[in-house]
Amino acid sequence: MVKTNPAWRALRAEGKTANLPEEKTETAKPRIGVLAIQGDYDAHASALQDVGAEPVLVRKPEQLKGLDGLIIPGGESTTFLKFLERDGFLESLRAFAAGAPTFGTCAGCILLATKVLHPPQPSLGILDATVERNAYGRQIDSSIEETATKLGPDFDTGPLETVYIRAPRIQQVGKGVSVLAERDGFPVLVRQGHLLAATFHPELSTDRRVHRYFVNMVGEARDSTPHSAPESIHKPHRKS
Ligand code: GLN
Repeated sequence: MVKTNPAWRALRAEGKTANLPEEKTETAKPRIGVLAIQGDYDAHASALQDVGAEPVLVRKPEQLKGLDGLIIPGGESTTFLKFLERDGFLESLRAFAAGAPTFGTCAGCILLATKVLHPPQPSLGILDATVERNAYGRQIDSSIEETATKLGPDFDTGPLETVYIRAPRIQQVGKGVSVLAERDGFPVLVRQGHLLAATFHPELSTDRRVHRYFVNMVGEARDSTPHSAPESIHKPHRKS
């Protein structure tokens, strides 16, 4: 959004700037990382572009620096873990996601959870939830459903298409976790402060509401931390 007064612009062009108020310049697009180790990161990057954010593919821990938010995509959580357990990537990711807006979809949701079952495996352990892997069966049991959402008046404009691919099931969530959509009584989209997690793949539908919602979360976090150092990966965050 550019807030430029044309009269001030003319005065500035003439070098008469002494008594002019400071102008707000165009707000930079939020820079949102997409973990690009494996899985459908390209589809997330396109979805972010569609909703006015700048996607940044993240393949190394140092690329997390200065990002406004992060998406951990679907894929295979065990493969992610193998890769992340090298070079301290898992620790950097944990530090980032502990403070900055982070959205995990499917395998990304599994990585964020505090407890993983079927079988148990390590995780970032920051989303207060118990997640059962492959709870709906094998690849052949993948499905496309529709669900109501509780994202707020601007977003709850009709049923949301939800694509499940070897999806996990969120069995249980802690008190600080809001359930934003359900399937058969189980949460499929949840929020815990600056964290968002889905057991489905919003990037594979044309409906961009979930990405728009996440980019709004990123905007809220940015607005609440005006003095945050852009180089810091430990951005403070005000929980909403
Ligand atoms: N079944 C996968 C896992 O356990 C997740 C599937 C997905 O991300 N689509 O990691």
